[in-house]
Amino acid sequence: MFGVLQPKGIGVSGLFEALWEQTIRNWTKRAGKRQLTHEQYVAFMVQEISGLFENGFPYRHLLNLRPDGKNNAKAKVLRNLGNSLYHPTRAVAMSEALLYYNESIAHAAKGSEARALAYGNRAAVCYHYRRYADCLENVRLARASNYSDRLAAKLKQREEQAKIAMEQNLCEHLQRSGRTTDFVAEELKLCCQAHANVPQMAECLQLGRNAQFGQHIVTSRPLKVGDVVLFEKPFVTMVSHEFRHLRCGYCCSEANCFTLIPCEGCTMEMYCSEECLSKAYQEYHRYECGIVRDLKRIADDPINGVEGIRAVAVAIVTFGNDLDTHQKHLNGLDESKVNAFTMDWNTATAKDIYNTVHVRPMQNLATAKIWRCKSSIPPSYIDSCWSGPSWERCAQQIPTGANCYSI
Ligand SMILES: [Zn+2]
Ligand SMILES: [Zn+2]
Repeated sequence: MFGVLQPKGIGVSGLFEALWEQTIRNWTKRAGKRQLTHEQYVAFMVQEISGLFENGFPYRHLLNLRPDGKNNAKAKVLRNLGNSLYHPTRAVAMSEALLYYNESIAHAAKGSEARALAYGNRAAVCYHYRRYADCLENVRLARASNYSDRLAAKLKQREEQAKIAMEQNLCEHLQRSGRTTDFVAEELKLCCQAHANVPQMAECLQLGRNAQFGQHIVTSRPLKVGDVVLFEKPFVTMVSHEFRHLRCGYCCSEANCFTLIPCEGCTMEMYCSEECLSKAYQEYHRYECGIVRDLKRIADDPINGVEGIRAVAVAIVTFGNDLDTHQKHLNGLDESKVNAFTMDWNTATAKDIYNTVHVRPMQNLATAKIWRCKSSIPPSYIDSCWSGPSWERCAQQIPTGANCYSI
């Protein structure tokens, strides 16, 4: 029945394309002959698809799903790739070496020598970049992770060198720039006074509604390109796939890319601190940890492949990890009364914020890109804020220092 499906390399699109050709298309023909209403049609399709999966449809095999896990052999390969690029006079190569060492740390088992060696090598990169405090932190992490006795003298030497360098205050490049770190992001500031009830939004923005645009946003004052009119904490954040071993998986900061620590359950997430690791796990990662690698692999878009399940995970946690409580809340929610513009965000609870995401169109401004095409946004809004084809592009041009996506 599913002979055309290949056991390897297939993604969700390929899976459902094949399902459509072989099975679902016939169901739709049968449903069409029965002249079902929309609701009956949906119920019919849900029943058929549920039956398909209950009857042992081999999606796990077809998608080649497998649990993520630590792999010291792969960690060694990644560390060796880092070593092959490690070159004190080639900055690009050094940054690539850092990435491989971070990946090696993420793949190595907790307490293994493989992880200790990757920490040790990362300490060398830190020393090269004159990040002596980070170098010492990696020395500490290496010792805490079973660094071998035969190499202990080398680690001790690196530690002594870093301490001496710190005492001699050899961070000339930082002194010259007057900065304490290479990774200070500019703080966003609204272009005018903040809205009283919505402190993350400029007061000049107002919600409008008319026949031409439907529900939309207008500004009460002229705006120029680059004016910041809104920056809000996303309901869900996610580091782009290519930065998953360079930025914190929770706060998205890149400031601690030299001292990231891994999730112990998967190879896909790293964090800048135990605090971020714990918060991510409590707030969503506990529900995605075992499947996040497969989701990113089989999805057409690694971001879209995970953001859905992460949003669901955040919602479940928002309601005390209780699906019944969540459902009861939705059943009692009067969506017509949810309005992000009139809600007082100063006193909003996590459930209030969830409501604005649940009732999505133009309520949570960051979701506007999903539901409104560019042409449906008022021209004044486009001229002032829209410097690219989407909110994401616009956001990338704002020096936030974090590569986050909101949904
Ligand atoms: Zn963090
Ligand atoms: Zn994990």
